Order: sequence, then C-alpha cells, then structure tokens
Amino acid sequence: AKQQPGAAVVAYEPGMAASAGGLLELEQALATAIVREEFLLDYQPKYSAGSREVTGFEALVRWLRPGQGRVSPADFIPAAERTGQIVPLGAFVLRETARQLRAWQQAGLQPLPVAVNVSPLQFEDPTFADGLLALLQTHQVPPTLVEVEITETAAMTHMDRVLPQLARLRDAGVGVAFDDFGTGQSSLTLLRRLPITTLKLDRSMIDPLPESSAGAVVRAACVLANALGLAIVAEGVETADQAAEVERLGCTHLQGWLLSHPMAAADAERLLKPAAVS
Ligand code: C2E
Ligand code: CA
Ligand code: CA
Ligand code: CA
Repeated sequence: AKQQPGAAVVAYEPGMAASAGGLLELEQALATAIVREEFLLDYQPKYSAGSREVTGFEALVRWLRPGQGRVSPADFIPAAERTGQIVPLGAFVLRETARQLRAWQQAGLQPLPVAVNVSPLQFEDPTFADGLLALLQTHQVPPTLVEVEITETAAMTHMDRVLPQLARLRDAGVGVAFDDFGTGQSSLTLLRRLPITTLKLDRSMIDPLPESSAGAVVRAACVLANALGLAIVAEGVETADQAAEVERLGCTHLQGWLLSHPMAAADAERLLKPAAVS
C-alpha cells in the first residue's frame, strides 16, 4: 500500500520469473503487487499454556489485490516461492514488522515478540541475517522482539546456507522457531543441530486430539522439546478439548482459532500493555 523509505531494495526483477518460461497471469500480477506494496500483515496472537496470556504474535501476510479483496497467502506464496518473488515479498514483510514494532514502542506500548515466516530462498542470500539485524538496528528494535519461523524442509534442503545464518541471528537474540513440525520426515538429529528456540507443532497433529494415539506423539514431542530447552507451540487449536489436552500433554504455548484468529495491527495493538514508566 504505502510507499516507504527503502522500498527500492525490494524492486522486482522481471528476469526472475521470465527465465522460468513465460510469466503466468498470477506471477505478473504479483510482480506489480510487490512494486506497489499491495500487502499487509495480520497478527495472530500466541498464548502461554495455563495462564492463557498473550506472549507474542505471528505475522501473516495478506495481499489486498485490487478488485479481488484479500487474497490468502496459500493462494500466492507457492507461486512466489516458485518464481523467487518471495525474496522481495519476504523483505517487505520484515520491513513492515520492524516498522510496526517501532510504532508500538513509540506509542508508549510494551511490544511483544513478532514471529515472521521466512522462506528458504531468503537464506540463499548469505547476507540475509546481517541484513535483518541491520534493519532492526535502523528501526531501533531489539532483536529479541523478532522470531524467524522456518520449516523443516527449508532447514534440511539448504542446511549449509541456513545453519550459519540462524546461528548468527540466534547469537544476536533473534528467536528461531521450527515451523510445521511433524509434517516432514523430521530427523531428531536435525533438531539438536539447529540453533532453535521454539518448536511449532503442526495443526495436523493437534486436529485429531484428544484421540489417544495422536496424544502420544504430541506428548513425545513435548518431552523432547523440554529436554532441549525449547518452547513448544500447539498450532491450530480450535476446540476447548484440544486446548486442555495440549496443556495436559506439556505444550508451553497455544495458537489457534479457539483463542484468536489472525487480526489487523490495530486490534493486535489493543492486546499490548503500556510500557513500564521508569
Ligand atoms: P503457517 O506458517 O503454518 O501459518 C499458520 C496458518 O494457519 C495461517 O494461515 C493461520 O491463519 C492458520 N490458522 C491459525 N489458526 C488456525 C486454526 O485454529 N485453524 C485453522 N484451520 N487454521 C489456523 P494463513 O495466514 O492462510 O497462512 C498460510 C501459510 O502461508 C502459512 O502457514 C505460511 O506458511 C505462509 N505464509 C504466511 N505469511 C507468510 C510470509 O510472510 N512469508 C512466507 N514465506 N510465508 C507466509
Ligand atoms: Ca508459521
Ligand atoms: Ca505452521
Ligand atoms: Ca503451514
């Protein structure tokens, strides 16, 4: 939507998609949308188990496509990944997150950490981690207020690029979440090798609860996370029974429609407390 300083750094290069063999309509529309910044972020709260207090948010991108309203990321992230457009789009998401965190601070609020989904393609750039840290510094946002979410596929297929950059972010205080855990052929060794702070249990593991065999898997994941000193988030909690069950099984955090849908920044803001007066 708004043109912001630094917008030039996300300028889309048509060659990216054209080389893939002709621009499809969606890809072409995406290219324009990226230049015009027709995107915004919704924020889905994350809650601590037991107290059910809000402990942070996950930023989820939406495309305000002219004439078509809000387009779900499920309908354009795959195309953006295929063409490389996820790189400039992902850069926008990070800039917008930093800007929002700064705005909350300046409004006298105590910001809560915001988790951002990062594509493996963004890690292809060896300066990704340094660029993110520089962005946060520019906006005077403490690195501890940002968490990156990566999927296990990303971590596994781009290990050589991803690992050192995650370590760099981690050292600076940025949180690292392993997203969609339980959907791939997770290696437990990988978990130990990655500098992660949080495990996010995919909704497909939460859905069948409170059925008992699903519960056994969730419990095992919680025991593992606990042993590794990781927070463990149950994603996609939709019913009170599921919430009670994941809390009983040892999840430290809950996210899902039962507690809250993703919401506009203005609504997320109402969940923030005033900053402590010094
Ligand atoms: P994800 O990272 O696994 O995000 C969780 C998705 O589940 C979100 O869908 C969220 O709205 C939805 N969700 C949350 N609670 C519930 C629930 O209780 N039940 C159900 N059925 N769904 C729930 P959304 O916003 O449509 O995003 C879909 C996916 O798009 C995300 O999955 C993520 O992989 C991708 N995505 C979203 N924003 C970004 C982004 O900025 N960058 C990248 N690379 N990917 C993004
Ligand atoms: Ca995620
Ligand atoms: Ca997820
Ligand atoms: Ca997912």
